[in-house]
Amino acid sequence: MNYVIIGNSVAAVGAMRAIRTLDRDGSITVISRERYQAYGRPLISYLLGGLITEKRMAYLPPDYCEKNRIDLMLECEAIAVDTKSQSIKLKNGESIKYDRLLVATGGDPFVPPIEGLAGRERVFTFTTWDDAAKLKAVSGEIEHAVVIGGGLIGLKAAEGLHLLGKKVTIVELADRVLSAAFDQPAGRIIAKKMEANGIDVITEDTVTAVKGTGSTISGVTLKSGNTIVCDTVIVAIGVRPAASFLNGSGIEVNRGVLVNDHMQTSVRNVYAAGDVAEASDFFTGQKNPMPIWPDAYIQGDVAGTDMAGGDKEYAGGLAMNSIEFFKVPTISMGITNPADDGGFEVLTLREPENYSYRKIVLQGNRLAGAVLVGVVDRAGIFSGLIREKVDVTPFRDQLLDAEFGFVNLPRELRDRLFAPERKQQF
Ligand SMILES: Cc1cc2nc3c(=O)[nH]c(=O)nc-3n(C[C@H](O)[C@H](O)[C@H](O)COP(=O)(O)OP(=O)(O)OC[C@H]3O[C@@H](n4cnc5c(N)ncnc54)[C@H](O)[C@@H]3O)c2cc1C
Repeated sequence: MNYVIIGNSVAAVGAMRAIRTLDRDGSITVISRERYQAYGRPLISYLLGGLITEKRMAYLPPDYCEKNRIDLMLECEAIAVDTKSQSIKLKNGESIKYDRLLVATGGDPFVPPIEGLAGRERVFTFTTWDDAAKLKAVSGEIEHAVVIGGGLIGLKAAEGLHLLGKKVTIVELADRVLSAAFDQPAGRIIAKKMEANGIDVITEDTVTAVKGTGSTISGVTLKSGNTIVCDTVIVAIGVRPAASFLNGSGIEVNRGVLVNDHMQTSVRNVYAAGDVAEASDFFTGQKNPMPIWPDAYIQGDVAGTDMAGGDKEYAGGLAMNSIEFFKVPTISMGITNPADDGGFEVLTLREPENYSYRKIVLQGNRLAGAVLVGVVDRAGIFSGLIREKVDVTPFRDQLLDAEFGFVNLPRELRDRLFAPERKQQF
């Protein structure tokens, strides 16, 4: 069997491991646009900020591909897929055949057409090792950077630059940072922590123009009419599935590549996994891109298993974000901003002065979501309760306690869900 994987990040790794578990002999080729072995993408802000060295970036042992007979083609881009002849066209003019293909190309940063942005030297995106390296290379000349977008990537870029001692201003269109994953109180606590550390956070506003002379930036103008003097702009308003090279292939693409619960696309022998895919949501079953690290791995694992003749099903993506800013850990999972008419009940406990906040979202007698800021060490129990759809009635009143943990769960439940061999899943 001839397996080809396009992309060499976490979804690809999940697939490589699954394939090699079931098929020791088939050939595996991995095509990657980047020049590095698979690395921890969420670590690029720490690399920029100097908290970790390049050595820490690797996701796999250096000899993993050699040991597992994986042919890794670095700095190689797939530009088209012909699903009739089962072949992939590469940018270097070559063509590669496949029996089973996995598209694991993740997302590309979206750069909107902002007046005065194009042609400036110090405009960056922040999704790759090279983005971090480029920023670091010019960091000696940066005095004040404006980050457009207060989502996960924007906040991470801001944190990395702040670690280098740079003045940073985040401009976010929504009424809070991290609006996609967190609710308003959590977003406000995180913004407060950033401001306490010297990062300016402007919400409900956006950059409408970049000013400067030639390729040099001198400032930005906001929708509100305010201006900020700056020399660098980071565009971090989101990523879009990197699927344009599939145009004309017959593979169905909606907001991402559409897949079923085996990660199969609409075309035989072609799979997709990770940020590029649009797979089922855990709660609604609706197709939804879920651009988070753990899900990319799980989807890759399911895809690789199916590609190699095994049988695994994707149980649906449970939105889960776990991020630490300035030593304040935060986790959000499941439904965090429930609709008013969805039959949800919300329990909260706020201590903003301590950067601490807990929110539990219940639907009937089940946990549907949680937001934890400050104390997050029992988050695994919450995600276990959500995934296993446990009736929480017996310990409902204790869910908000900072000490809530295994001892609050009935013994039968502890044994069933959190026995040592199962615990690692949560
Ligand atoms: C700064 C930052 C911080 C993050 N922090 C977190 C976090 O704290 N928690 C969390 O859960 N998630 C986090 N994420 C998101 C997480 O990194 C992604 O969900 C995950 O990397 C997706 O993995 P993937 O394998 O689908 O694709 P990606 O990691 O996006 O990798 C896809 C690879 O495919 C390559 N590629 C694309 N097109 C082609 C082509 N045509 N030919 C060849 N190669 C191609 C790309 O260059 C890339 O190397 C963060 C992301 C960023 C950028």
